[in-house]
Amino acid sequence: MNRDAVGIELTGLKRCLFLSGSQIQTPPVKELQFFKKQPEMQTEEVKIFYPPAQRLFPGCCQSLTSKIMLKEKIRRLAKSFHPSIVAIRRHLHSHPELSFQEVETGKFIATKLREFGIAHEVNRGGHGVVALIQGEKPGKKIIALRADMDALPISEANDVPYKSQNQGVMHACGHDVHTASLLGVARILYSLKDEFEGTVKLIFQPAEEKLPGGASILIEEGVLENPRPAFIFGQHVLPGLEVGKVGFRPGLFMASSDEIYLSVKGKGGHGALPQNSIDPILIAAHILTALQQIVSRHANPLTPSVLTFGKINSAGGATNVIPNEVTLEGTFRTFDEEWREEAQLRMKKMAEGIAESMGGSCQFEIVRGYPFLKNDEALTDRARQFAVEYLGSENVVEPDVRMTSEDFAFYSQKIPACFYRLGTGNPARGITSPVHTNTFDVDEDSLRIGMGLMSWLAMKELENS
Ligand SMILES: [Zn+2]
Ligand SMILES: [Zn+2]
Repeated sequence: MNRDAVGIELTGLKRCLFLSGSQIQTPPVKELQFFKKQPEMQTEEVKIFYPPAQRLFPGCCQSLTSKIMLKEKIRRLAKSFHPSIVAIRRHLHSHPELSFQEVETGKFIATKLREFGIAHEVNRGGHGVVALIQGEKPGKKIIALRADMDALPISEANDVPYKSQNQGVMHACGHDVHTASLLGVARILYSLKDEFEGTVKLIFQPAEEKLPGGASILIEEGVLENPRPAFIFGQHVLPGLEVGKVGFRPGLFMASSDEIYLSVKGKGGHGALPQNSIDPILIAAHILTALQQIVSRHANPLTPSVLTFGKINSAGGATNVIPNEVTLEGTFRTFDEEWREEAQLRMKKMAEGIAESMGGSCQFEIVRGYPFLKNDEALTDRARQFAVEYLGSENVVEPDVRMTSEDFAFYSQKIPACFYRLGTGNPARGITSPVHTNTFDVDEDSLRIGMGLMSWLAMKELENS
């Protein structure tokens, strides 16, 4: 048997296997119903047809083969667009722009969409771009797909032809991959617009890496209205996951994240005469230690919480000088909105109380960051199943909950959302560096998989109305 062919094997009406390459899938029974109309198939014998099956049985296999063919079509389109999408990714990678400064990136995306013939609006949420691809019956169902487009203040250390040309700025979180993939999705879905019903809203979102987050600004501007999507998909690179694999996790996925700024004031003086000073370094040390009790003694042990201080500075000070002031900067992350509020109040009260009891004062400021990200269970379960159909079950994994945060979480608070991970690592080729490092890079085959899978998810969900 030609294993590369798309074939249909029938065993009566009860069992039907589809062979496509090495994949074997059993379709749901409802897909078999139309066979009953075909008298020549009322048989218990096994029949094997080779493609194109619809040529053998015009009409009969059309619906079924079109489902198979759709997947093949998307695969073929993703493969044929791959070189141009790699070129787009490399252009973006070599011209990274920081959050809220993505002027050229926004223009570049708009230029590409114009080339593809896709209607879009520019300067959304700053420098974002929002495009619409309408299929048949555009109002029937609307879904949104999102890619972020900003870079980080990191100097790239990779020696590659597409190395960052903007000194000190680098696409070290894969947002170039997300944007290029979504442009690939745009091309694929636009090519297939006669084959789906509904509308796909493409959101090229700025400023994911910096508070208050481009997502919150876009939502405030109404990106989830006119037309209102029923739900939203987003993907993110994961270098720890090998290229070819993807990760879906229903439910809680990523943490909320708040920035904490403390300013501890005392009274400076000679280090040899502490009795004449109020030592803010000692006060800060007490506060730092005590605040960890918020996590260890007040948080529900079943609710993940993290408190980390990554910066301590003193205004002046030396081995023999007590400074006037010490500042501390940290982050608090968790998965429960009520607890998030309570923890912030407790931290403030504790820090101010300790400072006061030691004769100093403490200014406590919280800058609210992103909420926690919860993937809609039903949507993510369906998407995972669609991913299995597209990539095979061996290539679909369930990633762990992460204490990192994402402004995609803002969408997940408004409409059902599914944020999934795209494997981009390739240890055999030395592509293993984590995101936010100066040696981060991806296996660019992930672009083919990223655009193909997202197109497949969109088409399947539009079908699933
Ligand atoms: Zn990042
Ligand atoms: Zn990112």
